[in-house]
This record gives sequence, C-alpha cells and structure tokens, in this order.
Amino acid sequence: MLSTLKTEVLPPKSCGLKTEPGSMSQRSCVYFGARYVLGPIKEAVHLVHGAVGCSYYGKMVRGTPAPVWTTNMDEENVIFGGREKLKKALFQALQIDSSAKGAFVYLTCVSGLIGEDVTSVAQEVSEKVGKPVKVVSCPGFSGFSQSKGHELSYKLIFELIKPVEQAKEPVVNLIGEYNVGGETKVIKELLEKLGIKVHVSLTGEATWSKIETMAKASLNLMFCGATAENFCREMKRTFGIPFMKVSFYGFKSTSASLRKIAAFFDIPEEKVEKVIAEGEKWALSKIFPWRKYFYGKKALIVLGTYRLGPQGKMLKELGLEVVAAASIFGRLDDHVEAYSVTSRVTDDPGDCEVEEALKLLRPDIVLTNARDQWRPVKFGIPVLSFPQPKERGPYAGYKGMVNFAHDLYRCLRAPVWQLLRAEL
Ligand code: SF4
Repeated sequence: MLSTLKTEVLPPKSCGLKTEPGSMSQRSCVYFGARYVLGPIKEAVHLVHGAVGCSYYGKMVRGTPAPVWTTNMDEENVIFGGREKLKKALFQALQIDSSAKGAFVYLTCVSGLIGEDVTSVAQEVSEKVGKPVKVVSCPGFSGFSQSKGHELSYKLIFELIKPVEQAKEPVVNLIGEYNVGGETKVIKELLEKLGIKVHVSLTGEATWSKIETMAKASLNLMFCGATAENFCREMKRTFGIPFMKVSFYGFKSTSASLRKIAAFFDIPEEKVEKVIAEGEKWALSKIFPWRKYFYGKKALIVLGTYRLGPQGKMLKELGLEVVAAASIFGRLDDHVEAYSVTSRVTDDPGDCEVEEALKLLRPDIVLTNARDQWRPVKFGIPVLSFPQPKERGPYAGYKGMVNFAHDLYRCLRAPVWQLLRAEL
C-alpha cells in the first residue's frame, strides 16, 4: 500500500516548471513576488502603475500592511496610455512623502500589456526631483511564478548599494530574512549575545539608507537561498563580502548556525556554547509538557519553497512525522533539504492533488499558506497557516521553537476540529 501511495499521492514534479494548463495553481504572479521582497523597504515611495486591484493585492506583504501608491489605471489609460497620469502621481507621491530617498515604480499586467514607456517617465521625474526612481519591470504575466519577481527585486536592491568602508567590529547583514511574525528581533538578540551587530535585514527590516551602506558588513548571512543566493554571490564578487547559509528554525539548525557564525568571527567557543546551552535548556523545559501530544502525529507541508525543509525539521525535532512536503514554486536545493524529512516531495501541486493527499495520507495537521488553508479545514484537519500573524510566532531561534510548539499544541488540541469531524 505504501509504495502505491508513494507514486499516486503528490507524484514528484521537478522544480521550476510551468504550471500545467488546467491545473489550479496556488502560485502568485511576478508582480506579487516583487512586492514580497521590496514592499517593506522604508524611506521609499512604492507606486504601482496599474489597475487598483493590483495595489490591493500587493498591500499585504508577509501578513503585514505595506504602504503603497497607485495610478489606478482605467479604460481610458489602456487606450490612450497612462504616462501623464504616472508622471503626476510620481511627483505627488514624492512631494507628500518628502523624506523618501527614492521610489520604486511597479509595472503590472495592464501597463505591461499596453507597452507603457515607464522608464522615460522615471528618468524625467528622477532628474527633476534629484532622487533615484527604480522601475520594477514585473507585469504579472512575465513569468510563471513569483520567483521571477524576487529575482528582479534583488537586482534592483543591488543597484542601490554604494561602496563604503567596512566596519571594524563584527557586523553582518541578514539576506533573505523576511521578519515574518517578528523573527528578525529574535535573530538579532541571539547574535548580540555573541557581540555581533546586524546592519540590515533584507528585507525584514530595511531602509533605503541602510541598503546603500550595507557593504560595511564583513559577512552576509543568507537565510532564503531561493530569493537571495544570486544577490549574495554578487555582493561577494563586487564588494568581497563572503556569505554563509544559515537557518534559525529548530534547535539543531539554530545551534549549528551560531557555531558557524562564531567561528567566522573567532568568538571563543565557551561564549557561544553558553548561549546555546542556555537557549536549549530554557526552550526544552517550556516544550516538555506538550511533547506527548506530538509523538506519532502526521504532518503535511504545502509552503512556498524555503520553509519546506526547515519547518519539516522543526516538526521532526518535536516528534511528528512529515508525510509529504510540497512547494508552490520549488527550488532544487530546498527540495533536497526537504528529502531529509520525507520521501514525498513535489512542486506546484494542483487542487486535486492536495485533496487526494489529504484523503489518503490523513495528516493530523497541515502547514500551509493562507490560500491553501481552507481545504484541510473543510476536512476537519487542523491547519497552521503561513506567513503567521504577529499573535503567532516568531518561529525563529529558541524562542521561536517554543512558540511553534505552543501553536502546534493549541492547534492540535482545539476542540473545534472534533466538531468539524463530527459534521463530515
Ligand atoms: S496577475 Fe497581473 S493583474 Fe493580477 S495582480 Fe498580478 S500584475 Fe495585477
């Protein structure tokens, strides 16, 4: 039976392929991918050149509202062009938000399809106001998932960096760290215990000026390789700043990352081992009462790409079994990592495939994104949705492991699931 399930449930698909026509994909568009990375950058005007719906869609980024302006294109602009409207909106936005150091102008499907010459408007406004205006060429249709939006956003961020003198003390940048549920603060606190300062978190806590000076760091810590690996490589090539892949999800990864970072800065072993021992001891004592509820429980993961492996490892450390992991826009490295927690790994599952997996694998809990959460709910299966709101999490570091375990416990034990099951 098991071998049959292995081939029939969530059949493995390679990463980076287009969605099959007719399949109900949960992927977001290229524009949303760009908003995901650039949206929270402060000291910048974010102007969406498109229909107002795109701005609404790109307003919430990683569970938090991010300020956004729009040209609110209508039928007239589609027929006669919206350059003048864009110019006026850009001037107005930069005038109202006078503290902004520059602007990002996002192309959407509408402005992309009519071939709007946004670059010349950006150049004209930039020359007149004396501030850079970056064109984010991200019409929703210009790629088959949000990952293209991530990639082009990091290229634009790179263009903002200026050569500066390196800091004398240990300073790092967090790259591909998105401050979901306040995770940046937890990571900063742990690094501060080792005497390491964080200059900027891309783009969890990022301002235009901090990005401009990020070459002062002596090490880049890469969190999400899917979005940030090329950027880290480019920083190494241009500014000579090395990078290392780290993860602060789960006990093993957090402790291993702290040891790696400490070794890079020649921080005494006793110092880092003390931080690790304290963190692990505190977290294990908090988690202990809930552990008995986790053993033997089955979990299904359907998430972006980067969290598949890390979140799976956290579940395993708590005693759960990961029955399958599916990414929305997978990447090979992330799939390889996910194979360390389950033998069933796939990409871009359609609605029917997820439904089949729920019926046949009968997980006790599903970890998935906001869009996919309702199907398990209808089956009466507990769901932890991502990105988690501030009331849940952060899930990074030792504190994060306690929060994660607590949320799992609360979710698995919530009486509402019994009522839903009884209804089926
Ligand atoms: S697919 Fe196109 S129209 Fe829809 S949100 Fe993305 S950019 Fe806007």
